Amino acid sequence: MYKKTQRVFKCPHCGKELTLTFYESVNVKDDDDLKRQVLAGDIFRFECDKCHYRFMACYDSLYHDPQKKFMVYLKSSPIPTNEQFKLLLDKGYVLRWVKDIGSFIEKIEILDEGLDDRAVEFAKYDSFIDYIQNKGKPEDVTGVYYQGYDDDILKIKIELDDKAITTMTPYEGLVEEMSQYPDLFKLDDPFFACVDPKWIIDIFEGAQEK
Ligand SMILES: [Zn+2]
Repeated sequence: MYKKTQRVFKCPHCGKELTLTFYESVNVKDDDDLKRQVLAGDIFRFECDKCHYRFMACYDSLYHDPQKKFMVYLKSSPIPTNEQFKLLLDKGYVLRWVKDIGSFIEKIEILDEGLDDRAVEFAKYDSFIDYIQNKGKPEDVTGVYYQGYDDDILKIKIELDDKAITTMTPYEGLVEEMSQYPDLFKLDDPFFACVDPKWIIDIFEGAQEK
């Protein structure tokens, strides 16, 4: 199930006004094909019918997996609270807010795997710190991403200018460590919380100041 809307959008290359179809919301219940399209980023990919320039357009979109009980909201501004979201939280839902397409897809992959995304941000942060303390310079790192999970091992990809390296972190150990500091890792925003690299950096830098 999905809800689509049409918007006029100028081709970034030739300026032609295009009518694009945006997915305002996506419900992937019993729809693996739709889920694949989202995870591949296809719902954000377009081609100009005049100059054939291909581009990605970011727009607000809500991903909903009712079976795995989570929602990820791609939105440029914070999501206002409402009673409907409160009911979902009471049902055990995880609700997350992300601000860009890459984070949207990454967050869906993490929650789809059934992982605690706070632990994944923790592992990304640890991997980055370990890299800059032992292997290279922070300015060489162009990105740190969730790569996959298998048999209690979280794989984190550190992208450098010319290559990428993968780090392995035992997942349950991280979850256990986090459970010892519930106040530190608790989420301030009760509805669509933003759990991103800034969130974990604020925790650790705040912790060091104390
Ligand atoms: Zn064009």
